[in-house]
Amino acid sequence: MSGKQRVNGVIVAIDGPSGAGKSSLTKLLAARLGYVHIDTGAMFRAVALMARRSGIACEDDPALAELCQRLEIRFQREGEICRVLANGEDVSTAIRSEEIGLLTSCISARKPVRDALLAMQRKMGEEGGVILEGRDIGTVVFPDAEVKFFLSASAEERGRRRWKELTERGETVSLQETIEKVICRDRQDESREHAPLRKAEDAIVIDSTSLSIEQVLEVMERTVREKVAAN
Ligand code: C5P
Repeated sequence: MSGKQRVNGVIVAIDGPSGAGKSSLTKLLAARLGYVHIDTGAMFRAVALMARRSGIACEDDPALAELCQRLEIRFQREGEICRVLANGEDVSTAIRSEEIGLLTSCISARKPVRDALLAMQRKMGEEGGVILEGRDIGTVVFPDAEVKFFLSASAEERGRRRWKELTERGETVSLQETIEKVICRDRQDESREHAPLRKAEDAIVIDSTSLSIEQVLEVMERTVREKVAAN
């Protein structure tokens, strides 16, 4: 036996820039392992959506702190579908627009927001049997996670994936513009003062630029199963 014993299994941290494939892979990996998927980006997006609706500016820390105090974020699973609920309202679709994505990158850099969500995420994941995806899971939220992955892909490929996703959802956006926005969001996430996007030293790096989802998934599943067996 080695490592920490958690009630429901190990903690898997998946970090990386936008469009690296975190969401799709986390969802599939969680289903294969019977683990709970926690999309921390969706939580930051929910804060951004609520701040926008309340007319709170990105730099208004006291108002953001107050907003977070009143905000209850939950994930509701119904078979394949996982809904994001903010104070009981289903915001799963509203949080996914490109506009909210960019605003989220600004709001997620604010300390009161990070502190509030850090506490929520730790509470959701502490018993294990979870996969958390985000930007700072392996470095800040669960630096003691048993398995850490850092997913990456070229900016062009990530922009292309994001463009495809938006187009399929009916949004009219140009490919070049989408690539530029992806690069801009990464820059904001990497350069912020609090919990920047960074690879944990002990994270396994997977560059998915020319790999299929299935290929990446296989590596991840094998790694987690080996870790569980060794624990
Ligand atoms: O993963 P997703 O693209 O939905 O995340 C939206 C934004 O939320 C990111 O660009 C980032 O600014 C922020 N985020 C974060 N820390 C996390 C997850 C997301 O700062 N753990």
